[in-house]
Amino acid sequence: MSTQPAVIEDELYREIILDHWRSPRRFGTVAGADIVVQGSNPLCGDEVVLTMRLDDATLADIAFSGHGCSISRASASLMCEAVAGRSLEEVRDLARRVRAMMVDGVVDEELGDIEALQGVRQVPVRVKCAMLAWNALVEGLERGGGTVTTEEGPEA
Ligand code: ZN
Repeated sequence: MSTQPAVIEDELYREIILDHWRSPRRFGTVAGADIVVQGSNPLCGDEVVLTMRLDDATLADIAFSGHGCSISRASASLMCEAVAGRSLEEVRDLARRVRAMMVDGVVDEELGDIEALQGVRQVPVRVKCAMLAWNALVEGLERGGGTVTTEEGPEA
């Protein structure tokens, strides 16, 4: 039926990524959001909007919307699923570890499904797609909202 994908494509689009791309988790908008942050990756045309509700030091609820490539969408979906209901400290720690994996290549098996994003490193330009939602998350929590672009601020 379909032709065998090239090895690099196979690695880039692992089953977990395809699944989150086809059926994104937490896609939509959180009602009564405390933080709204918009991220864009002009190199690829990815746009993500995160809405978050905080409960003291807990990220009580989070959802994403926007449009973009399969990697950006799958990464945002994986992220929202992973961070919802966690303490802000845990969220920041997770974001740091994802960054270390994606940017510095630090293997972290405790990341679970998120580890699937590691294959994206084989195509460096796509790392920005994968990091978009995570950068927006960190900046949103830091600054209480606003806009983030991959072309300024933290590398990648
Ligand atoms: Zn992209």
